[in-house]
Amino acid sequence: MDIQRILLIVLAAILGGVLGSFANVLVIRWHEDCSISGRSACPKCKSRIKPRHLIPIFSWLWLRGRCAYCGEPIHIQYPIVEALVAVLAIIAAVRHDPLTDPGFWFEFLFSAMLIVPVVMDVRWQEVPVEYLIGIAGLAGVWQVVYPPASIAVVLGRLSSIAIAFAIATVFFGLQILLSRQRWLGLGDLWFALAMAGILGWKKLLVGIYLSYIIGGSVAFVGFILGRFKRGSHLPFVPALFAGTMVALWYGERVTLWFLHAIQ
Ligand SMILES: [Zn+2]
Repeated sequence: MDIQRILLIVLAAILGGVLGSFANVLVIRWHEDCSISGRSACPKCKSRIKPRHLIPIFSWLWLRGRCAYCGEPIHIQYPIVEALVAVLAIIAAVRHDPLTDPGFWFEFLFSAMLIVPVVMDVRWQEVPVEYLIGIAGLAGVWQVVYPPASIAVVLGRLSSIAIAFAIATVFFGLQILLSRQRWLGLGDLWFALAMAGILGWKKLLVGIYLSYIIGGSVAFVGFILGRFKRGSHLPFVPALFAGTMVALWYGERVTLWFLHAIQ
């Protein structure tokens, strides 16, 4: 790996940290139902946060996780989301050259956007519906028009993405109806639509399958360790996100492996 590529990966990580802190703002503002404008302030003492306290991850470490004015603990969500989005940026930049391969922007931006509903589901069992539908639409349009191709190819992609949306709607819609929202909520359906737009139908199947394995394993370990009880609500969006990322990174390989296995 040459020096220019390493520099690009570092820049991607910084961009990831900045977008991560923007994701934090979206999470809090949407939960509290306010607009995105206005400057950052401490939720307790309302002091305005100085620019030097807004550096992703480092400010939180420097302040030892407390407000610089009143000492109120700053929620662990902030540094975790910033670090997570930075890691997603690094992985995307290692997989694709950010300067020449639009695949970097697709992987990085869509995975970063999905962090917002993941955090909201974990903390409050809610997801931003319009935002997820927007992601589904944007990703779907990208899949259909990029890379440029003949009308016939574009139409083929269009029907393929329609199949993906249909699979997500039927598979999650049925579970919600049959379980009367006990297993899964509507939030999982909206997230699955975004998954469908990002992955296309083949990788979507891989992603859903992996989500159930990941979610099931985490729940199983949680029950064994006594961290979860029967009937306690387990957020499923984080498992869907994990499945989405593995399908995005390894989907082609997993699909090939699966096709070999069933032959
Ligand atoms: Zn404060």
